[in-house]
Amino acid sequence: MSKTRVAVIPGDGIGPEITQATIDILEATGFEAEWIYLDAGLSAIEKGKSSMPQETVEAIREIKVALKGPTTTPSGGGHTSANVALRKALDLFANVRPAKTLPGVQGPFADKHLDLIIVRENTEDLYAGIEYKPHPDVAQSIKVITRQGSSRLFDYTFKMAREQGRKRVTVVHKANIMKLSDGLFLEEFYKAAAKNTDIKADDIIVDNCCMQLVTKPEQFDVLVTENLYGDIISDLCAGLVGGLGLAPGANIGYDCAVFEAVHGSAPDIAGKGVANPTAMLLSAVMMLRHLGRHEQADRITNSVLRVCSDGNCLTVDLGGHASTEEYAREVVSISRGQGAVA
Ligand code: ATP
Repeated sequence: MSKTRVAVIPGDGIGPEITQATIDILEATGFEAEWIYLDAGLSAIEKGKSSMPQETVEAIREIKVALKGPTTTPSGGGHTSANVALRKALDLFANVRPAKTLPGVQGPFADKHLDLIIVRENTEDLYAGIEYKPHPDVAQSIKVITRQGSSRLFDYTFKMAREQGRKRVTVVHKANIMKLSDGLFLEEFYKAAAKNTDIKADDIIVDNCCMQLVTKPEQFDVLVTENLYGDIISDLCAGLVGGLGLAPGANIGYDCAVFEAVHGSAPDIAGKGVANPTAMLLSAVMMLRHLGRHEQADRITNSVLRVCSDGNCLTVDLGGHASTEEYAREVVSISRGQGAVA
């Protein structure tokens, strides 16, 4: 049987370390893929290319599945975001970011067993990249929300919610102030909700949502929102369940899917061998499920849960002393203890 082909972008900062650890775990637990390594981010720029080279985009378009490490995006000036470019080029319109309490991991709601999914619109909003200076002292950014972009996001969200046995979808918005853009987003949400009456649908204003998330997060199930609110809320939710080192993500389009952690390239700890690879590993678990490899996905998930609950081999961000490699070896060893993987 031919091996599954998976595109790999190691990325910047801690990217190569956590990508290697993730691939080591996938291979050691029986996922025999043909890994096609591609440039993006600083490694591409150093070779005189753009942060998201056209050949990388075309390779992922052809392979259809990619595992991506974080790529650095400078604030203010500098190169444009490789992530934003990739999401737009491949029309990866839904960014799915689960936030789930792991046993043994300390966090403000460790006792609550949080299990949220944030679905972030991935191609529009202020990320449309329409910025200009009509005057040297004035900068403008245009927020773009379209009916088509919103309705496909909500169709996907209700379908995903149903497939995952979720009971409630809440749209997060600011339609009381941005009456046209967020108003359109909200209008399309309730149109989709009317076609999915088996799932409870409601809405919340983004500022109230943030307050509710840090006081009573267990009330939420699936949150769906615009690009910028989703970026912020998903980091907030990662913090609720123990930090960015644990938060996985998937960028989903009609034709392609790119799996990557919520966190960035963490330049402050890059090259030290201490990064937590869990977020990227759990992103790879989402990829395995996307590929129908549920047994292996379950096995790796169970191993991660065991490593966390045992607490003997945690990385520094979770209060432990284990290196990235030691953590990866522990996940593999526990996984092997569960028996051979087909
Ligand atoms: P971006 O702009 O790309 O989101 P950022 O610098 O704002 O990047 P991150 O790179 O996500 O944010 O890092 C935020 C903080 O979280 C840093 O202190 C970083 O060390 C820590 N962090 C992020 N990912 C990990 C990880 N996998 N393991 C350990 N610590 C991490």
